[in-house]
This record gives sequence, structure tokens and C-alpha cells, in this order.
Amino acid sequence: MPGADPRRRVVSLVVPVLNEEDAVPLFLSTVRTIVDREPYDFEFVFVNDGSNDRTVEVLLAEHARDPRVKLVDLSRNFGKELAPAAGLQAARGDAVVPMDVDLQDPPEVLPDFLRAWEQGAEVVVGVRRARSSDTVGKRVSARLFYRLFNRVSGNPIVPDAGDYRLLSRPAVDALNALPERVRFTKGLYTWVGFRQVAVFFDRAPRSAGAGKWKPWKLWNFAIDGLTGFSTLPLRVWSYLGMLVALAGFVYAAIIAGRTLLFGAQVPGYASFMVTLLTLGGLVMVSLGIIGEYLGRVYEEVKRRPQYVVRRRVGLDGPGEAQGD
Ligand code: UDP
Ligand code: MG
Repeated sequence: MPGADPRRRVVSLVVPVLNEEDAVPLFLSTVRTIVDREPYDFEFVFVNDGSNDRTVEVLLAEHARDPRVKLVDLSRNFGKELAPAAGLQAARGDAVVPMDVDLQDPPEVLPDFLRAWEQGAEVVVGVRRARSSDTVGKRVSARLFYRLFNRVSGNPIVPDAGDYRLLSRPAVDALNALPERVRFTKGLYTWVGFRQVAVFFDRAPRSAGAGKWKPWKLWNFAIDGLTGFSTLPLRVWSYLGMLVALAGFVYAAIIAGRTLLFGAQVPGYASFMVTLLTLGGLVMVSLGIIGEYLGRVYEEVKRRPQYVVRRRVGLDGPGEAQGD
């Protein structure tokens, strides 16, 4: 019986779901065959991230059959970064594993995570061996992003490490204590530190339904990551400004000298326009980058909660449907 032995340690799987009515039963049946062989009590904490299909009904039916299935029902879609954060805060396991419902984070790797944890790892990072299930565009852009991020952030993340990982209780508590609302989870996972061990795996294609990551979303995700973990984009403008100003002084000296030696010369429309447009462009870009940061500062100082919960099922805390 699940939960029968209070001495057994608890492992929580945290699964955000957005319109995944087909994927949920498949996920649970696959995961059950694997976790039933493990000497731990499991809980499956699903976070409904504003689904508008029958996902919640499916989850409630699963909960009625197996109380290990629990639900944090968010009031709307809060996105793929915040939904797992909600699950992480609700999970009570000694170890917590955030994973996707579409079996792209293969449950077969869970035993490897648990063995590494038993051997003293505080965080076990799942690293994708090959990205063969991705398109070329996604692969190239991912590689570029990791390069850039690790160059500028001072908080390097392991390339191809997804959010699929095992976090021991101390790491979970540290993450839950981070108040920021624009969350770049990959960076935060690394930021909290702890002894990390890598486990390699192959990422499978999606089991059911469709992926919800659009290029535009990925681009915004990259900007969130870079601005959340580096102020280099802000600082670079002082240096660029100095460089441009220096070039300006040199050019001014040349023009002044030429005027003194050869008299005033009106032609110069081309160089004038080029300078004007280049400087105008640079000023706009730098303002835009300051705006990116200002926007994030604004998001944080509003101090709104990270997410809003409609109800919890099978979990402690406010809004729990008791007696189930
Ligand atoms: N997901 C979510 N909120 C969102 C988008 C996705 O909770 O706004 C969930 C989704 O149901 C799935 C996981 O996040 O369990 C990964 O989503 P997806 O497979 O679309 O992303 P990808 O595999 O392309 O990274
Ligand atoms: Mg997926």
C-alpha cells in the first residue's frame, strides 16, 4: 500500500501539464511499472497549467483510483517555467524529479537518478546524449545559446541538461526560497549549487499530442535566461559608447585639420548620414536592452505571487479538497 511505511523515503515526480488528456494515462502507466520496483513511496504531483481540454477530469479520475496522483490546479496558464515551480513547492518528497508528461524525459532513467542519489549526489542532472529528435534549427540555436550563456553569465549551465533531474530536499528548499518571478529554471537549478552528478540519456520523440514550443517562445526564453543571469548586455554599452566617441573625436580632429589647411568643404553628406544612422541605431539598441532589464525589474518589484492556485487535490496546504 502506498504510504503504509512511514520510514520509507518519499520521491515526488513533478509533472506540469497543458492540454495533455491523452498523454497523462500513458505517462502514469509507464511510470508505475518503473517506480513499483523502487523501495520508495512515490507521489505524482501534476500541475495543471491552464488546460482547456479534459486534463483535469482525467487527473481527478486517476487520483480517485490512486491517491499517489496529486494535483495543483493553476488558475490559468503560467508557462513552462512557473508551472514546475508550483509543483516543486507542493511536493513533499525527500527527492523531487521535475519531468515532462510526454515521456520525452524517459522514466527508464529514474532508477539511475535514484542510484546516484543513494550514493550521495544532491542533484542528479539528466543530460541528453544526442539531440537527434530535434530539428536542425533547434539544435543549432540551442548550441549557440549555451555557448553565449556560459560565456556571459558566470554561472555556467551544462549544455543539453534539461529540466529533467533529481533534486534532493535541500536543493528543493533552496529553489523554493528564490523569490523571482521571471524564472529561468535551468539557470536557477545551477545557481543553487550542491553536489551535482550527471546521468546521460536519450530524449525520445513526444508520446502523444503536440509540442508547444514555438521559435518565438524559445527566443523569449533565451532573453529571459541571459538577462536573468548576466548584466553584460547592460555594461557593454559603456565600452561601445567610449569606442564610438573615440572614433568621433579622431574624425572631428581630421575634419578640423582639413578645414584649417584646405578651407571649408561642404561635401560630406555620405559620411554625415552614415554616422547619424549608425549612432541612432546603436542608441536605440542600447535603450532597448536597458528596457529589457527595466521590464524585469518592474516585474519583480510588483511582488505579485508567482502563480495562483485554483485548488489542490491530495496535497497539504490551502485549498485542499479534504477527505479524498
Ligand atoms: N507545459 C506546461 N505549460 C506550458 C507549456 C507546456 O505545463 O505553457 C508542459 C507540457 O504539458 C509538458 C511539458 O510542459 O508536460 C513540456 O512541454 P512540451 O512537450 O510542449 O515542450 P518540449 O518537449 O518541446 O520542450
Ligand atoms: Mg515535449
